Amino acid sequence: MMKVRRYLRGSGRVLAFVFIASVIWLLFDMAALRISINDVNSQLLKERVIKEREIFKQQQSRVTQLMKRGFKNPVQRVDLAVTHAGKGPLSSGVRLAQVYRQGGRKQDQMLRDNQGNSFQQQADNLPKADHSKSVVSEHLEGAALQNVTSKHGDLAKKKAVNLDLNGAKSEVPEVLSHTTQASPGIQKNKLAPLPTSRKEPVKTGDDGQIPLDKTDPKTKEKVKDELTKTGAKVTQHQTEDAHPVKTTPTHPNKDVKEKEINIHKEKKQVGTIEKSDLHATKEVPKSVIKLGAGEDSKDNATAVRKPGVHKVLSLDMTLAPRDANAVGQFGQAALVASHEDAEVRKRWDEGHFNVYLSDQIPVDRAIPDTRPETCAQNLVHDDLPSTSVIFCFVDEVWSTLLRSVHSVLNRSPPHLLKEIILVDDFSTKDYLKEPLDEYMSQFPKVRIIRLKERQGLIRARLAGAAAAKGEVLTFLDSHVECNVGWLEPLLERVYLDRKKVPCPVIEVISDKDLSYMLVDNFQRGIFKWPLVFGWSALPEEYIKKNNMTISDPIRCPVMAGGLFSIDKKYFYELGAYDPGLDVWGGENMEISFKIWMCGGEIEIIPCSRVGHIFRGQNPYKFPKDRQKTVERNLARVAEVWLDEYKDLFYGHGYHHLLDKSAIDIGNLTEQIELRKKLKCKSFKWYLEKVYPDMVAPLVKAEGLVFNRGLRKCLALQKGSLSFETCDLSKQSQLFNYTWMKHIRQQDLCVAPQDKGSGFALQLCDNTKPELRWFHKSSNSALAEHLITEFVSHHMCLEAGPQGDSLHLSPCVPNNAFQKWQFTHYHAQ
Ligand code: UDP
Ligand code: MN
Repeated sequence: MMKVRRYLRGSGRVLAFVFIASVIWLLFDMAALRISINDVNSQLLKERVIKEREIFKQQQSRVTQLMKRGFKNPVQRVDLAVTHAGKGPLSSGVRLAQVYRQGGRKQDQMLRDNQGNSFQQQADNLPKADHSKSVVSEHLEGAALQNVTSKHGDLAKKKAVNLDLNGAKSEVPEVLSHTTQASPGIQKNKLAPLPTSRKEPVKTGDDGQIPLDKTDPKTKEKVKDELTKTGAKVTQHQTEDAHPVKTTPTHPNKDVKEKEINIHKEKKQVGTIEKSDLHATKEVPKSVIKLGAGEDSKDNATAVRKPGVHKVLSLDMTLAPRDANAVGQFGQAALVASHEDAEVRKRWDEGHFNVYLSDQIPVDRAIPDTRPETCAQNLVHDDLPSTSVIFCFVDEVWSTLLRSVHSVLNRSPPHLLKEIILVDDFSTKDYLKEPLDEYMSQFPKVRIIRLKERQGLIRARLAGAAAAKGEVLTFLDSHVECNVGWLEPLLERVYLDRKKVPCPVIEVISDKDLSYMLVDNFQRGIFKWPLVFGWSALPEEYIKKNNMTISDPIRCPVMAGGLFSIDKKYFYELGAYDPGLDVWGGENMEISFKIWMCGGEIEIIPCSRVGHIFRGQNPYKFPKDRQKTVERNLARVAEVWLDEYKDLFYGHGYHHLLDKSAIDIGNLTEQIELRKKLKCKSFKWYLEKVYPDMVAPLVKAEGLVFNRGLRKCLALQKGSLSFETCDLSKQSQLFNYTWMKHIRQQDLCVAPQDKGSGFALQLCDNTKPELRWFHKSSNSALAEHLITEFVSHHMCLEAGPQGDSLHLSPCVPNNAFQKWQFTHYHAQ
């Protein structure tokens, strides 16, 4: 025993040291274990969130939308709830209560989605996690409370409720099935052709630039005025710190308070490029991925490419924790009580959407992350080019303009957002002057350019582009909400190939309840004659053949126009927009044809999503007649880009545009020269390679021209017409019925002479109405007749009963000698 004690005494110091060291070691170990448990917990929670999000997404209906720019957005998904709100019939009350309940689930879901972000942050930065968690749970309680009160509360008094997308689905299946079946995107041009007047020439400054306002309203903040190289006056706010949002007296904003910015930032991760991304880039050489910019890498601002990649940053910053009870929060439908209907109606025309409601929705509300599941895991390069985001606006509603700007500020990686340029296209509203300057002065990245006279969207964008300092230009409409992770996938495409012009998926913000709605997958922009924009799903076979997933970029024949990114240098190489286009319309066709035919590509990027309010009407005034403006723009596009296919454009109701004395489409020399200089391909090539599913027959009908009464065919020999026994092998009997409505052989057209005294042959001339014949028009009684357009009352081409004459007679439906049949009809 003593020996042991002595032994212990002898080694006492060492033993004590070992013991203490072990205790310390143990303590460290336990701490580490706790941390790793936290990690595991947060990981598990994250996984749960992801799973729930998946379920949530699966449950959501994919609403097919007609989304013609400037045309009606037909979605009526939550109208039912809106119309019944507060009016109190029992059935709708019950229905609403159910929706509320489901709304609660959804809210809960979305808050947990937000938690997902917080937990990601937690993994990065442990001390902050508890704070965000408590904020979230507070919201959860709030949401639950609201659901209870909503269920039993006075509906009429309730200003707005958050509806659930899932709820809406189960509540109104008939509405959904209707919208889903709706033909996606193709709308008839609502412009009825009318005679046109002369258009004023484009006004430019002495230096050839668009004149810009030299008298900005003064702002209180440190504001630096600078004239850009182009003479554009730019107001740049120099404030460097992110100040709390100040509200203007006219538009109080109760949701954003003086609090620190919460940045939910995804941890940077480096890994391998995932399958969908590889698929997406498979049209470009693999080396492009490595080099980043391929053959054009010199032209990109970053000369030396770093190979690093990271997961798309799913940023969603807020100036203050979000109020779960706020109107329209989480992009959910908001209701207006019936007694407020009058107010809604009163303010509708300010923007042609529910302006009254919009003004109550937080300027930085959350919206559901609608990206396909894989998108958040996609990798993008570390050294993406920076972008200038350009919003042009004229008389935009205050709250939607702000929400557009905030969505960019909050959901774009700051290092990629060079600036936001607001181009005020000579708005008339006072709140868009000094109050806007003042509000934006707290955001150093926001610059305001004021045009000194109304230029229209196209030249306003040109002014914005001229002032932009970013490597990439990103154009957006001024009533959008950019979704989480919207920017990097766009810039990645430009990075991979500077001639790629990526567009986000345009989702729908309801004009009625401001809810954020999904659209169908695989949609791409197309046109129908006469250059009417629309949406159409990729053909099934194409999807299968290319083994496409819902997150792969989609080749897009025509962009919608409002939202896209483009390499700035490339934009100018392409000659930017045709500056001869006025106000609005046709510019999306112009830039789309130009991009495709001159070596670029337009893509829709499903991992980038931006909501847009589709309005039934343009809320702003057109300096000239709207219809004439748009058709004049389209005629410019047709003349420059459509080659022989321009007949199809004019032939679909735009014949009157051929009358040069009635319309002046302006000088096209520069545009035609540009096309030559760029060695752009033909429109035929475009149709075959880019838009092969487009049917574009160059003539309406062809072959023999058979007269039913005579049972003989028209023949043209030695400059005169006669009737012969039909024979398809005889060239002299073959005619075309063209889009110009000509009955044509070579360059000779059948023409009536002296009001029916006979017929003649004339050299075809598109501008001469007397050469045009209606045939197979909608009037079924005269469908087979050839009705001359030359005389006001209906006169038809008639064969003499002996087959020795051809003359004009008043149209008689049953007269077989007035009925004609071509061998092949390609179009009606
Ligand atoms: N815009 C403009 N000047 C004009 C017409 C339009 O700056 O003369 C702006 C408008 O405020 C909007 C964008 O251009 O931000 C696109 O116009 P709009 O939203 O009316 O087009 P739509 O989405 O209906 O096609
Ligand atoms: Mn728009």
